Amino acid sequence: VLRAWRGLGYPRRARRLHETAAQIVEHHGGRVPSDPLALRALPGVGPYTAAAVASFAFGRRVAVLDTNVGRVLARAAANRRLAPAEARELAQALLGRSDPRIFNQAVIDLGAQFCRARPLCGACPVARACRWRLAGAPEDPAARSAAVSRPQGAFAGSLREARGRVLATLEDGPSARARLQGVVGPGHDVTRVLDTLAADGLVETRRGVWALARGRSQ
Ligand code: SF4
Repeated sequence: VLRAWRGLGYPRRARRLHETAAQIVEHHGGRVPSDPLALRALPGVGPYTAAAVASFAFGRRVAVLDTNVGRVLARAAANRRLAPAEARELAQALLGRSDPRIFNQAVIDLGAQFCRARPLCGACPVARACRWRLAGAPEDPAARSAAVSRPQGAFAGSLREARGRVLATLEDGPSARARLQGVVGPGHDVTRVLDTLAADGLVETRRGVWALARGRSQ
């Protein structure tokens, strides 16, 4: 699974996806459950993924809350910073009896195309009903509101990059720590890099060398 995932980033997700597939076979007869609570119980499935699968795949009346939706809620609907529970309640209330697939996709698209980190209010189709804009666009409430992600740091030189390099090396076979230190370069302590990968269940030591983990479901 890790080899197939190569280059996509966030390798923990590959592992969780595989574990989830195994659990779906074991506990749900090989069919993805439609119930949001059952989805949440699967490895690596958080509230966003559970709501997205339940609503888009099964038409369940569940509002999704991602970073795009979070901005729209904080600006257009509330004109204030929202706590996570408030944002979820507000999204669910706005969904009401609408078709969940259409409503969720529409709000996601609104956030992706117009209500961006730098909003394009002049072209926005809901500008005339947007509470933040009608209030004169004071301090942006979306900046630290629920579900709104912070900008990521640069990839070059990051721990993410070092983790990716180690995994790419181990995909070709086990390797000694000293060699892996050369792979990550002097800017990173390979022990720390390996510790984070081991904590995620992605690598393990075998007979004194590091290798991709052979988990129960790998
Ligand atoms: S008017 Fe501006 S702030 Fe309001 S929803 Fe549209 S893009 Fe977002």
